Amino acid sequence: MLMIRCPVCGIAADETEFTSGGLYGRLEETENRVIPRDVVREWWLCARGCGTWFGMARHVVNQRVTATWAAGDEPWDGRH
Ligand SMILES: [Zn+2]
Repeated sequence: MLMIRCPVCGIAADETEFTSGGLYGRLEETENRVIPRDVVREWWLCARGCGTWFGMARHVVNQRVTATWAAGDEPWDGRH
């Protein structure tokens, strides 16, 4: 189970309180992309909190959340 903290409103809960929106980035960039074995960046919706979409980096092996960020506040340059 993932524990997620919304970077916008600060609510922290397990993943069932949020909605996954798939891989982070533009659709055309992610459709043919091989899912890595380390960290994936995904969209998540703060469904029970503020209702805001945000980005989250998650390690696919140990399920550790390594970062969350508000849209427009990406810690990367937007490329994969
Ligand atoms: Zn929120």
